[in-house]
Amino acid sequence: MSDAQDIESRCDYCGKVVSDRGWIGLEVSRPRVAPEEANYPFPDYLNEIFCSQEHAALWLQQPLPDPEPVKPYVPSWRERLMDVGLVSALVVTVAFAAVGLTLTLRWLLFD
Ligand SMILES: [Zn+2]
Repeated sequence: MSDAQDIESRCDYCGKVVSDRGWIGLEVSRPRVAPEEANYPFPDYLNEIFCSQEHAALWLQQPLPDPEPVKPYVPSWRERLMDVGLVSALVVTVAFAAVGLTLTLRWLLFD
């Protein structure tokens, strides 16, 4: 059994289960026009799957669904701790590299 069969996809027009070999995808992107989303750099994006081209065409004839509102990104404490850990590891690595470079230069130049 393939991974595609494990995830059951359904037609976004009729809700019928779409087979692995009998689907058609439709991607729609559009600019964000809401004033509060004016500085958001990414367009609104829809990715729909259909059982047939006819259903894709019927879906596209309808008004598009409202764009999903942009949620502000707020990092969790776990993500903040991971950032602190990564920066700390970087600082320690650069410090060890500086000590190693200094000792190598002293060994080459003064011994
Ligand atoms: Zn369908």
